[in-house]
Amino acid sequence: MTLFYKSTRDSENIVSASQAILQGLAVDGGLYVPTEIPETDLDFKHLANQSYQEIAALIMQLFLPDFTQEELHECIDKAYDQKFDDQEITPLVKVGDQYYLELFHGPTLAFKDIALSILPHLMKKAAQKNNMDKEIVILTATSGDTGKSAMEGFADVKNTRIIVFYPENGVSPIQKKQMITQKGENTFVAAIEGNFDDAQRKVKELFNDENLRSKMAENNKVFSSANSINIGRLVPQIVYYVYAYTRLVKSGKIESGEEVNFSVPTGNFGDILAGFYAKKIGLPIRRLICASNQNNVLTDFFQTGNYDRNRPFYVTSSPSMDILVSSNLERLLFYLTKEDTVQTKQLMDDLNKKGNYKITAGMKSGLSDFFADFASEKETAQTIHEVYEKGNYVIDPHTAVATCVANKYEEKMLPTVILSTASPYKFPQAVLQAISKEGEKAAINKLETFAEVSVPAAIKELENAETKHNDKITAEEMMHYVEKELNLK
Ligand SMILES: *Cc1c(COP(=O)(O)O)cnc(C)c1O
Repeated sequence: MTLFYKSTRDSENIVSASQAILQGLAVDGGLYVPTEIPETDLDFKHLANQSYQEIAALIMQLFLPDFTQEELHECIDKAYDQKFDDQEITPLVKVGDQYYLELFHGPTLAFKDIALSILPHLMKKAAQKNNMDKEIVILTATSGDTGKSAMEGFADVKNTRIIVFYPENGVSPIQKKQMITQKGENTFVAAIEGNFDDAQRKVKELFNDENLRSKMAENNKVFSSANSINIGRLVPQIVYYVYAYTRLVKSGKIESGEEVNFSVPTGNFGDILAGFYAKKIGLPIRRLICASNQNNVLTDFFQTGNYDRNRPFYVTSSPSMDILVSSNLERLLFYLTKEDTVQTKQLMDDLNKKGNYKITAGMKSGLSDFFADFASEKETAQTIHEVYEKGNYVIDPHTAVATCVANKYEEKMLPTVILSTASPYKFPQAVLQAISKEGEKAAINKLETFAEVSVPAAIKELENAETKHNDKITAEEMMHYVEKELNLK
């Protein structure tokens, strides 16, 4: 085993894959990245005949070398089973001349399920491997989808607890309902006055608070993360890029080795970063299309080299992308600086103190793997409408952002795979409004007729579900909330 993980802010901080999963965030505030890019020779013709689970085992083994094949297979089999309502796990659907990779067939109807249905199993194995007997407390900020998806994965998992903070006015009504009705003795949820960035910043502060950390240790507890800062989230996401490509080969749409583009609706930069790693291990990707909504801080960054979070925050119809501080960009910066931890730390310090930073011309030239643009609210709605009219296919607002930006990309010669990150049923009002004009209940019923796909069970259950979480606090009260719910003395 030669692949380890090191912090983006301290090259001396090196841990094994399983330790990186247990810790989530490095103690120096940095994010763990692999010490090397695994060498592999992907045989796409061969992979075209393999299942999602088989491809997952191959890809995850490359990045998690201290897990055995047996352990990975066990985790994969537990994660990717009947919880997904499609045997393919992430089916690839052709609509017009574009391809949609449907990542929303899991229990909470968003792409976060792909990684979060396996993360608890990986964490359990990682704890055994490291003889860790402490209770693992998952601390998570959510822009809407991570919270529910993570709770679904960790609910009633022995020796774990999960605390979720969500922006009170920043999630869709269905997302909120999914969270406040969450079952499981070990789940805790609080609404935060403020937006996702406030919640995420505070969670990182709590992780790095030495006093809190030692109190946790005294109580035989330790924090970890279910956000995409955890490499245990990123690695399972690399799999579906490879899977999508092999299905294109299988159906004869491309020859093995031909390049394709992927368009990714982006918020915290986790999903698209997994695509970046897929490219690094040899997947023939020409461009990763970084699609933002009105909160277009990433578009500006890719176009100018300036990252500036000092700007208005918009609540949009794609709330899971309403983010101004994209955590995983730190990992990309690390590569742009040629793995310079001092420079990466400096840029992150600038972001913390001033709210902005500027990369050098040399670093900017490393951005050619990406194309970035954004979709306004109007364009997003128009795109939902168009795709329905032309392709008879219903997409959610996040997926619409990725479609709109893919259409803005001028080099359209190559096949483009659009990552479809949420079921339209999670945002029925926005979707139906884009097609016609209706209220929420009527929207769900109407949507069923339009989509010709029946209402998912996960949505039906919500109708009569009991509210279990009513806590509402400010970001400043988050520390106290954690101490109180965990009974820290
Ligand atoms: C989280 C989320 C995104 C953004 O993914 P990132 O990894 O944060 O960039 C896009 N769409 C949906 C539906 C999501 O839940």
